[in-house]
Amino acid sequence: MKIHTPVFETRDGYTFLASHIQFEHTLAGVPDWLWFRVPSSLNPYLVGRSDPFVSALLILAMWLGEDIEIQGPVSPRLMYGLGDYQAAFRMWSPDIFKPIRIHAPKLEPAVVAPNKTGVASAFSGGVDSFYTLWTNLPQNQIYRNMAVKYILFAIGFDILLGDEARWQPALIDYTALAQRLGVEMLPIWTNIREFTDTVMGWQAWHWCFGSVLIGAAHAVANPLRRFYQPAGRTFLTDEPVGSLPQIDHFLSNEGLEIYHHGARVTRFEKIATIADWPEAQRNLRICWQNPQGLQNCGRCDKCLRTMISLDILDRLPQFQACFVAPLTHDAVRGGLRGHLEEFYIEDLLHEAITVGRDDLVDDLRYVMEARKSE
Ligand SMILES: [Zn+2]
Repeated sequence: MKIHTPVFETRDGYTFLASHIQFEHTLAGVPDWLWFRVPSSLNPYLVGRSDPFVSALLILAMWLGEDIEIQGPVSPRLMYGLGDYQAAFRMWSPDIFKPIRIHAPKLEPAVVAPNKTGVASAFSGGVDSFYTLWTNLPQNQIYRNMAVKYILFAIGFDILLGDEARWQPALIDYTALAQRLGVEMLPIWTNIREFTDTVMGWQAWHWCFGSVLIGAAHAVANPLRRFYQPAGRTFLTDEPVGSLPQIDHFLSNEGLEIYHHGARVTRFEKIATIADWPEAQRNLRICWQNPQGLQNCGRCDKCLRTMISLDILDRLPQFQACFVAPLTHDAVRGGLRGHLEEFYIEDLLHEAITVGRDDLVDDLRYVMEARKSE
C-alpha cells in the first residue's frame, strides 16, 4: 500500500485533506483517494501530514498483508507506537492480521507550538461521549489544562456518509449543544468506510473504528494538544476491539496526545453520572437502528440496556423523549439476545438486585436462561 503525500483541496464549502492510495491487490470498488474534510472555515485546523492516513489505514493494510510506504511527512513517535499497535492485533487475531513493514523515509516530528493547547473529545452523542464530555467540562475538571475545548463529531463512521437524513439533524443539534456548553464543534467527514467496508466487510468496523477516529483527530490537530477517546469498555473487560486503554495511546504523536478516557467506570456508572444532566436527557443518541436524527428505537439491545439502567436509577421519565418506544417487560425478555456480551447483562442484574427491583431481576434472569438455549 502506497500512501502518497497529502494534498489540500477546497470545493463546495469544504476543505479536503486527501491522499492518493495505491494497493498491491486489485480491489474492486475501492476509491483512489482517502479524504477527510471539514467546513472551509476550519481549514486552518487541517494538518498536511501522513499521520491521519497511516492511522486510518493500518488495520486494512494488516488485513491485506500489504507493507505500507508513506511518502508524506510522518511522526517518528507515531511510527514507534505503530509497532506495538500492530503487535496487539497480531496477538489477538494472528489469522486475520498479518505482520507488515512500514517504510517512512520522511520522518518529521509533529509541531509542538505554544499556542497548540486545545483539548478535544470525540463526540457521537452516546453514553460514553456524554460521560467523557461531562467529566472534562471546565466546571467539572479541576486540572484546567485538561478541560475540553472542542468536540469532534465524525461523519462517515457509525453514521454513514450517504446517510444525510441521520447526520444532518445530529450535526445541527450537537452544534447547538456545543454552543450552549461554550465549546467548539469540530465536524469532520471521511470516506474511509468505502475502503474498510469494501475490503473487509462492515463487520470489521469494530477493529478499525478506534484508529480511524484517532486518524481524524490527527487530521484536525493544528489547534490540539490532547484528544479524548471515550472508552466503550472498562479495564476489566478484555475482549479485543479497535479501541482499548492499552492501545490507543500508541497512536499519539509529538504534538497530539491520545488519551483513552473512562475505562475506570462501568456503563451503568456512566449513565448514573449523566442521568441528571438536561443536555444528556434531550440529546442522547445510542441506537443501533437510529430511526432518524437523535431518536432511539427503544427496542435494540443498546436502547434496552440504557433504558433499564435509567429505570433502575429512577430517571427513565426524564429521558423518555429520546426513545420512540417505552420500556416494557416483554421488550426486555424478547431483547438482549444474540451476540451481546454477557457482562452487560450481569452488570444490570447486579444493579437491579442492589436497588431491590425484583421485577427487573426476574426479567434479566429470564433473559440469561433464554440465552443459554440459543
Ligand atoms: Zn435502538
